[in-house]
Amino acid sequence: MKFHETRRILVTGGAGFLGSHLCDRLVAQGHDVLCLDNFFTGSRRNIAHLLGRPNFELIRHDLVQPILLEVDQIYNLACPASPIHYQHNPVKTIKTSVMGAINMLGLAKRVHARILQASTSEVYGDPLVHPQPEDYWGNVNTTGPRSCYDEGKRCAETLFFDYHRQNGVDIRVVRIFNTYGPRMHPNDGRVVSNFIVQALSGRDITVFGDGSQSRSFCFVDDLIEGLMRMMNAPPDFIGPLNLGNPDEFTILQLARKVVDLTGSSSRINFDPLPQDDPLRRRPDIRLARERLGWQPTVDLDSGLKQTVAYFRESMASNSGAGAVEK
Ligand code: NAD
Ligand code: UDP
Repeated sequence: MKFHETRRILVTGGAGFLGSHLCDRLVAQGHDVLCLDNFFTGSRRNIAHLLGRPNFELIRHDLVQPILLEVDQIYNLACPASPIHYQHNPVKTIKTSVMGAINMLGLAKRVHARILQASTSEVYGDPLVHPQPEDYWGNVNTTGPRSCYDEGKRCAETLFFDYHRQNGVDIRVVRIFNTYGPRMHPNDGRVVSNFIVQALSGRDITVFGDGSQSRSFCFVDDLIEGLMRMMNAPPDFIGPLNLGNPDEFTILQLARKVVDLTGSSSRINFDPLPQDDPLRRRPDIRLARERLGWQPTVDLDSGLKQTVAYFRESMASNSGAGAVEK
C-alpha cells in the first residue's frame, strides 16, 4: 500500500466478533487502527495478537460517553448483538445505539471523517416481504423484548441520515444479516455458536419452536469484505445496503447440519419459541451485487467447518465443558 493511502481508522466494538476480524484486515492493509471497546461482550483474546503491532491501538471506553479523537474513518460496530446480551440491560442497549451514534456522528462531523454504521436486518422485524430489499420499511414491535435492539438500530439509522442531510456528514449505512464464524462468543446464545458448542460438548441441541423459522447465514470473511467495500465505495452511495448470504435454511436444517459436521451424538430438543422471533429472514442483495460487485463466496458447509474447528480448539484449550473464558 502506498503511504498516502494509509488512514487512521476507528473501529468501535473492535474487540467483538465482527470488529476483531475487521481490525485484522485493516491492520494487515497498513492502516493506523484504533480499536475502541468497553468489553461488555468483546474480549481481549479476540485482539491479543494485534496488541504488539505498531499500527494498532486499544482504547477502553464506553461509547455512551463522548470521546475526542483524530481519525479519517469510523466503523461504528459497538453494540451487543445477541438477544441474551442485548436484553440483559435493554436501556443500556438503546443508549449504546442512540447515544453511541450521536457521539460518533458528532466526532465524524468535527473531524470530517467518513462513518459507517453497522445496522441490522432486525430493522425489518418480523418481515411481511420476503426476501427483504432495502426499500422495505419493516414490521417491528416497539414494545417487545427485542425492541431495545431493533428500535435502537432504527433510530441510529435515522440519526445517520439526519446528520448527513443537516450537517453534510459523510455516512454509510449497512444492514447486516445473521453472520457467524470464529470468535463468536460461545455463550452469547446466538444459534450457530449455541448449536456448535452444544454438539461439541454432547449436550442436547436446543431448537426453539418447531425449527421451521428460517435464517440466512453469512460467513464472517464475506461480511467484512462487504463492509470494507461499502466504506470505500463512491461518495454518492451511502445506503442503506443489505449485506448477507441469501442462502436460506430452517433452524432445524441448521441443527442437523451441525450434528452431521461434528459427528456428535447430541439429540435435538424442541424448546419454546421466544417472543417476537422473526419467522423468516433472507437478504435481497441485488444492490450490493450491482454497486459493490459483492456477493458471498463461502457456503454454509465450509463456513461451519471453519467455525467448528475454532470452537473445538478454544474449548480444548479451556479444558472443554463448553465454557470458553473471555
Ligand atoms: P459483539 O457483541 O461480538 O460485538 C460488539 C462489541 O461492542 C463488543 O466488543 C462489545 O464489548 C462492544 N460494546 C458494546 N457496548 C459498548 C459500549 N457501550 N461502548 C463500547 N463498546 C461496546 O457483536 P458482533 O456480532 O461483532 O456485532 C457487531 C455489530 O454488528 C453490532 O453493532 C451488531 O448490532 C451488528 N450486527 C451483527 C450481526 C451478526 O450477525 N453478527 C448482525 C447484524 C448486525
Ligand atoms: N435459536 C434456536 N436455538 C438456540 C438459539 C437460537 O433455535 O439455541 C433460534 C432463534 O429462536 C431464532 C434463530 O435461531 O429463530 C436465530 O437466532 P439468533 O439469536 O442467532 O439470531 P436472530 O434471532 O437475532 O436472528
